[in-house]
Amino acid sequence: MARVYNFCAGPAVLPLEVLEEAQATLIDYRGSGMSLMECSHRGKEYMAVQDEAVANLRELLRLTDDYAVLLLQGGASGQFAMVPMNLLPPGSVADYTRSGIWAIKAIKEAKLIGKVNVAADTADALPTRVPRVDELTLTPGAAYVHLTSNETISGAQWKAFPRTDAPLVADMSSDMLSRPFDATQFGLIYAGAQKNLGPSGVTLVVVRKELAKRVPATVPMIFRYQTHIDEGSMYNTPPCFSVYILMLVTRWIKKVGLETLYRRNVDKAARLYAAIDASGGYYRGSAAKECRSDMNVTFRLPTEALEEQFAKESSAAGLKQLKGHRSVGGLRASIYNAFPVEGVDALVAFMKDFQRRNG
Ligand SMILES: *Cc1c(COP(=O)(O)O)cnc(C)c1O
Repeated sequence: MARVYNFCAGPAVLPLEVLEEAQATLIDYRGSGMSLMECSHRGKEYMAVQDEAVANLRELLRLTDDYAVLLLQGGASGQFAMVPMNLLPPGSVADYTRSGIWAIKAIKEAKLIGKVNVAADTADALPTRVPRVDELTLTPGAAYVHLTSNETISGAQWKAFPRTDAPLVADMSSDMLSRPFDATQFGLIYAGAQKNLGPSGVTLVVVRKELAKRVPATVPMIFRYQTHIDEGSMYNTPPCFSVYILMLVTRWIKKVGLETLYRRNVDKAARLYAAIDASGGYYRGSAAKECRSDMNVTFRLPTEALEEQFAKESSAAGLKQLKGHRSVGGLRASIYNAFPVEGVDALVAFMKDFQRRNG
C-alpha cells in the first residue's frame, strides 16, 4: 500500500485506522447487511453513531448541559451566514476581527444581515498575524464578538482568546480539537469537519442553548439553531456517512488523548519552523512568530519560480499538496492531528536538500 504524505489544507489527511475501520464496515455495517450509507437515519445503527459522535465531542470539549452540539451541513461558509441570521437582530452590532481571508468572508456575510464593527484589522499585515487580545476595539452591548481561531490560508493562529462581555463566536474550522481550550468561554463555535475532524459534508456547531433562543421570527426553520437543537440535528436527513467518519475520528482523538495530540502538534510545527529559521533566510515564515500556526505552516522561498519548482519536486518525492492557497502563493504545509511526524521530518530533509541544490 502506498500512502503519500498529504499536506492538503482540506479535505485533509485522516487517521489510517479510521479509514481501515470504515473500509471493514463499508458493505455490511455490523451485521445489518447494509452499508451505513444505506441505513435509515432514524434506525438504531445510525442513531448509535450520531449519539456517540455527540457524546465524544461533549467529553472532549468538556461541555456542560448549557451547550448543544449540532452536526449540520453547509460548511463553515454556511455558518458565516447562519451566525448573523440567528444572533444579529435588527438594530444591534456585531464585532468582528478581520484577520485574514476567512474572517473577511465571515464579515461579508454578516454585513448582508446587519451591522458589523471591525474590532481589529490585521488582514493586510506582513508578516501575517492575528490581532492581540489587547488591541480589540469592542462595541459596548455588541450582539457578539467573532474571531477566526486559525487563519488556514495565512498560517496565523490565536494562542489565547479574549474574555469578552458579549458572547464570543469562533470559526475553528482548521484547529478544532487540535489543542485543549475552555469551550465554555464561547457562546458559539463552528467548524467544517474536513480539516481536523473528518471528511467534508458535516459541520460542527457548539452553541450555548440560551443564545439560540435569540433568533428573529423571520428566519426560515432550516437556518435556525433552535430547530436543530429541538430535532437533535435530524430536522433534515443528516450526512450520515460523514458523521460516521467524524465519530470514528473523535473516538481516535479520545484514544490518543487531546493533550498528547496537542503536544505532538506543537512538536511537529516546531520542527518545521526550526528548519525555516535555520535556513539563513532562504525560507521565510509568512506569519509573525508569536502567532505561527501549529496547523498550517506557511513559508516563502526567494522567488516565485523557486516556489513553483519546490512544489513540483516535493510532490514528485511523495510530499503532496504543499502549494500555498492560490490567493496568496508561497508554500503551505498543513499538519493537522492525523498528519504523522515522519512526514514532517521528510519535509525538513527535503527542504535542506532543496536549499543545497538551489541555494
Ligand atoms: C476551510 C475553512 C472555511 C471554509 O469551510 P467550508 O466548510 O468549505 O465552508 C472557513 N473557515 C476556515 C477557518 C477554514 O479553514
